[in-house]
Amino acid sequence: MKEPEPEKKPRIYSYLLIALLVVLLNAFIFPSLNSRSEKEVDYGTFLSLVDKGKIEEVEIQDNYIAFIRKDKSKDTTYKTGVVDDPKLVDRLHEANVKFTKVIPKENSPIMSFILTWVVPILLFIWIGSFLTKRMTRGMGGPGNALSFGKSNAKIYVEAVTGKSFTDVAGQEEAKEALLEIVDYLHNSDKYKAVGAKIPKGVLLVGPPGTGKTLLAKAVAGESKVPFFSISGSEFVEMFVGMGAARVRDLFKQAQEKAPCIVFIDEIDAIGKSRNSGVMGGNDEREQTLNQLLSEMDGFDADKSVVILAATNRPETLDKALLRPGRFDRRIPVELPDLLGREAILAVHAKNVKLGDDVNLHAIAQTTPGASGADLANIINEGALRAVRLGHQQISHNDIEESVEVVIAGYQRKNAVIPMKDKLKIAYHEIGHALVAAKQSHSAPVHKITIIPRTSGSLGYTMQVEQGEQVLMTKEQALDKITTFMGGRAAEEIIFQSVTSGASNDIEQATKIARSMVTRFGMSQEFDMMALETVNNPYLGEDASLLVSSETAAKIDTEILTIIKTCHQKAIQILGENKDKLHELAKYLLEKETITGEEFMAILTKE
Ligand code: ADP
Ligand code: MG
Ligand code: ZN
Repeated sequence: MKEPEPEKKPRIYSYLLIALLVVLLNAFIFPSLNSRSEKEVDYGTFLSLVDKGKIEEVEIQDNYIAFIRKDKSKDTTYKTGVVDDPKLVDRLHEANVKFTKVIPKENSPIMSFILTWVVPILLFIWIGSFLTKRMTRGMGGPGNALSFGKSNAKIYVEAVTGKSFTDVAGQEEAKEALLEIVDYLHNSDKYKAVGAKIPKGVLLVGPPGTGKTLLAKAVAGESKVPFFSISGSEFVEMFVGMGAARVRDLFKQAQEKAPCIVFIDEIDAIGKSRNSGVMGGNDEREQTLNQLLSEMDGFDADKSVVILAATNRPETLDKALLRPGRFDRRIPVELPDLLGREAILAVHAKNVKLGDDVNLHAIAQTTPGASGADLANIINEGALRAVRLGHQQISHNDIEESVEVVIAGYQRKNAVIPMKDKLKIAYHEIGHALVAAKQSHSAPVHKITIIPRTSGSLGYTMQVEQGEQVLMTKEQALDKITTFMGGRAAEEIIFQSVTSGASNDIEQATKIARSMVTRFGMSQEFDMMALETVNNPYLGEDASLLVSSETAAKIDTEILTIIKTCHQKAIQILGENKDKLHELAKYLLEKETITGEEFMAILTKE
């Protein structure tokens, strides 16, 4: 009953053609057939024809009178309206006209039967079948009701994704783990000889944009076995049972094609913990998940079907999905480190024209916390900027600028900022930079600018760590907070007034101080007590408090103490370096953007 896909379109066209023909016949051909055999005359003419004896037969109907003339072709039926005329019968009798016999009229009975019965019925059958077909297809099933719920899983073969492991940079551990699986699919005998079983399910977890989907595509490109790819959301349907049917179908196809790989992207769409929903949860999703669980148990490990899945919300996944025998291998795909970032930049730089002055290592240093997707975007923004400026190649400046675009948005060239505000902004930024430079645990200043950006920032101070920072000491955390306080402190010292310009600094400083108290165990009061848990480590650090309201109040006091101490320290540092503050602010006001070297040169000059 299964119909091959490509036949569908021509069939729809042929249906349309038939419908069009019927309409055309009705509009042009049949009426002309009719008019050849039927003519209308008025009642007076009819009467005079009767009187003249020119009529052979008459048939009187409820609303018309039909007759045939003696003097004209018998094929033509004449018609006239019925008038309340009691003498008509007498007249006809007198004129010797036959009027009892039914005259065959209009078109042939077969034709009229076909037109009034057969054609409409066929039309309705056709419309009905067309609609059901549309609906079943909408539900995922090509063809008819019997194949209801077929999966849309696409079969990828090596050439289709066009990705290989060389396209994925930095994720060496993940690649290694996946290579083992590819190797197993090629040389399963080697593994069977030792009795080693390859994991059935492999879960790629990590923040968005770190290359999980890309890795899966690379596996498809490398493994040279059939690769089924489907997104978790494609299982979730309007009707209960459809998702489960798809899972069933997907695994049936996969087992037929073994050895092969099945990739389920964004698996959290179906794999959510079953007790997390409100009011009994979501039936459809649960059924889909149950089907997935039983399918994963259903095939043997030596069937050579490996299931890859990706998610950035592993903590929401159902425990049953994670137990041994299902997704028992977990491959973290973390944000890239310094070397990883450089490698990713290099991979994406291959596709563009880079100038000789570009230093990807320096770019990697200025982008801690950037994901692979961010870095790909940075390269592309740089290329766009080069084109905009009419250059043939991308320069280092283009890429540096695009880093800032990604961090802070585009420059607002036409923004009009009053001179007195510009002055305050310059002191504010130099305040940050000076405090950072005068502390021993701060990262060096890389760039200071007072050019406004579309993100709403009026200026910023960029600090760049030299190496990779994995741990943060308490001293570093405190120095960071003090640096954030530096902007406001400069305004207070120089202008004896404060502005709204420190709002972002305040927010960030408070975030660090809160984490120090609630999560890092860096306060006297709470020692190493856990006060907060992070809900979703991969999607922003939103955390929830685990404490009584009394403790919560104490936490706030503790945070406030940290911030106040740091604020005072910033004021003290700037007070001791007031001359440099003036000198640097004046220089920045003039130049609008200065580099870390320029800054240090003025600071260390005697
Ligand atoms: P996710 O982890 O959210 O699935 P993707 O795999 O979709 O992320 O990555 C998005 C894009 O970011 C990729 O198409 C690629 O251009 C780029 N990218 C991410 N990680 C890397 C990486 N490790 N190496 C090279 N490019 C990467
Ligand atoms: Mg993805
Ligand atoms: Zn600031």
